Amino acid sequence: MFRISAILVIMVLCSIGFIASLSYIEHARTTSSNSDALVDRAARTAATVLSVGTHSAIVAEDDAKGNPQALRIADDRGKDLLAPDSSVEELITQIARTNDGTAALFTWSSEKRAFDRIATTVTGTDGSPAISIETGHQAFEQLSDGKPYIGNVPAQGGERLAYLMPILTTSGKLVGALAVDIGWADDLSAAHSRLRIKFVAAALVILAIAVLIGNLLLRRELHPLRRLAKTADDLASGIQPDAIPYCDRSGEIGDLAHGLEKVTDLQDKLQKLAYTDPITTAGNRTRYFGDLSRVLKDARTLGHTASLLHLDFQGFAKINDTFGQQVGNRVLLQAYARLANVFGSGSKIARISGDDFCIIIPFDGDGSQAECKAAKAIEVLSAAFYLEDTEICIEPCIGIALLPADAQDVETAHRITGLALRAAEEAGEPCYRRFSAPLNERVQNEMLIETLLRVALRTQQMTLYYQPQVCPTDAHLVGVEALLRWPTEKRGFIPPSEFIPIAEKTGLILELGQFVLNEACKQAAKWVQAGFDFGQISVNVSPIQFKQPNFARTVKDVLATYGLSPRVLCLEMTENVFIDTSEKMVLDILSELQDIGVQLSLDDFGSGYSSLSYLHSLPFQELKIDRSFLANACNQPQKEQLFQAIAGLGRSLGLRVIAEGAETAEEFALCAAHRCDGVQGYFCSPAVPAMDIETRLEAFRRSVSLPATGSRRTSRKARRA
Ligand code: C2E
Ligand code: MG
Ligand code: MG
Repeated sequence: MFRISAILVIMVLCSIGFIASLSYIEHARTTSSNSDALVDRAARTAATVLSVGTHSAIVAEDDAKGNPQALRIADDRGKDLLAPDSSVEELITQIARTNDGTAALFTWSSEKRAFDRIATTVTGTDGSPAISIETGHQAFEQLSDGKPYIGNVPAQGGERLAYLMPILTTSGKLVGALAVDIGWADDLSAAHSRLRIKFVAAALVILAIAVLIGNLLLRRELHPLRRLAKTADDLASGIQPDAIPYCDRSGEIGDLAHGLEKVTDLQDKLQKLAYTDPITTAGNRTRYFGDLSRVLKDARTLGHTASLLHLDFQGFAKINDTFGQQVGNRVLLQAYARLANVFGSGSKIARISGDDFCIIIPFDGDGSQAECKAAKAIEVLSAAFYLEDTEICIEPCIGIALLPADAQDVETAHRITGLALRAAEEAGEPCYRRFSAPLNERVQNEMLIETLLRVALRTQQMTLYYQPQVCPTDAHLVGVEALLRWPTEKRGFIPPSEFIPIAEKTGLILELGQFVLNEACKQAAKWVQAGFDFGQISVNVSPIQFKQPNFARTVKDVLATYGLSPRVLCLEMTENVFIDTSEKMVLDILSELQDIGVQLSLDDFGSGYSSLSYLHSLPFQELKIDRSFLANACNQPQKEQLFQAIAGLGRSLGLRVIAEGAETAEEFALCAAHRCDGVQGYFCSPAVPAMDIETRLEAFRRSVSLPATGSRRTSRKARRA
């Protein structure tokens, strides 16, 4: 800018100098032939000629500067002088010649109050009048007052510059006037206007040149400023320039460029903070959604396939709980390093929360890369992490979606990948699942059930039905199993096999289990009070519920609430309670329950990881043979032998044996033949509302022609309960 200022100052100075010299030259040329010199010369000439001429009695009277002011003549000579004769003509001619101009002599007529021209060098041959002093003209006023007049007077049809001197007698009486012509007044004004035109033209040219050069210079100087302003604008819009220009410059431009460079550095740092996960240095949630949006848009518009992977570690919370958050963070950091190694720099990895990683593969060709890399990621992440001499294992699960085939928008893409992940997690081991329509349907249904289940629990839509367990020899009631029923308006009864696993997955089973325990005990108390001998009431206990630290306490509290003897309550659990739990822990819980005095039953025996050691070492009082062993056992001797063996085993261990799923008279008879203590099955009765139990039993007994000995103390009161 200093350079521009300096250049402009120099230019303006040059312009002024140029105009001033032009003016000076023109002015000098004009003035050399104009007024002052001419006036002076004309006046002096006229005065001299007149005073030294024929009438030497005339004296020129000068002012302080020596310029003639008036001509004085003796009082008595005035008349002679102004008498028009040839000598006067001659005198005037001489004046005109000497002055190189024209001259005229006037007499003053005091009567007419007018100046009469008595002699002039302008003969008027061309018809133009000579100098005249007309009444009203300033020349007339000045002269009639005895003062000289220098200025324009009418002459020869124009204006002539003239020097007019009054001729006065010694006593001051005005007798005439002498006019000496100096030149055309127009000459001077023409010179003035010529000067003006030249001045304006020169000024315009200079101005135009100055504007042009100034503009060019400014453009040149402002170009870097414009580029830097554009860079600043880009920065503000989030566009990162490759490099800030003009950083090598000095001066204001360089300063500005360095300033912008600092801004980009700062922006870089802020960007990193805003989009980076501080624990792993992977992208964070914000970056993930931004990247996903861009990748999805590109894949849609350019027509290629991108893939999205959602990875989660099963039971990662345990690591934090067991080893502390610091160790958990280090595992995440190492896991990210392994992931980055598998997916490479072309992929975008972000940690969106806790142990959730999302990976975007922007170009996945035919979509096979995602599965390939997911398999590899599972392999490398399943390998143990070693931290502070501790071996830590995590179980990765991955959901995969192909874009845009599986989802058109960010929200759907993220959601369906989550669904695929959920499906992978359900497998219960490290694996990946690709999103598909059936998977979508299943998971959606599960999610719907989860929602409905929450509502059902809140609005108490759930109810308990009871299925009798009957002695196969005399059909008396040995027990009832409480089975949960969920009636819905749209879908009728949703079977427990559909909602119990979802309740277990979502943790709702705890609330549900508490409800069942409570309701069952409440009903049992009512029956006890009514004198209805139901044997025992069996309640199914989920492994999750079973492993709650305060489970035994809860059972005890519920029994106490309804004043129920622990002996009438039987808790059924399947072999699933042993999954992920040590036998010792199961034993401890069972022992606690045993201490309370409740009955313990091993449900669905033979359907799972049947281990005979459970039967031997754990304090069960009852064994329920899974219904798969009874189904068709009548037609298949080997199956019957198996059923017989299990029943015999249970009996030999001193357990009460209940056969599940007797649907026919033959199966019922088989249970009797193999000395089961109880039979539970549709042949006797399905699960029914509490109030219907007795009716169903009576109907059953009638159908098999057995005496109505089941509820030995059955009464009207019991039926009402
Ligand atoms: P489970 O404990 O083995 O219950 C017996 C299941 O077999 C019941 O099915 C019952 O209706 C059915 N069943 C009884 N007799 C027959 C028969 O003759 N033939 C056939 N095919 N089935 C028969 P449900 O009520 O659908 O319950 C299924 C499973 O859901 C139960 O198996 C139990 O594991 C679970 N469940 C039911 N209610 C609860 C509950 O309140 N809490 C928990 N944790 N689980 C429950
Ligand atoms: Mg059961
Ligand atoms: Mg069962």
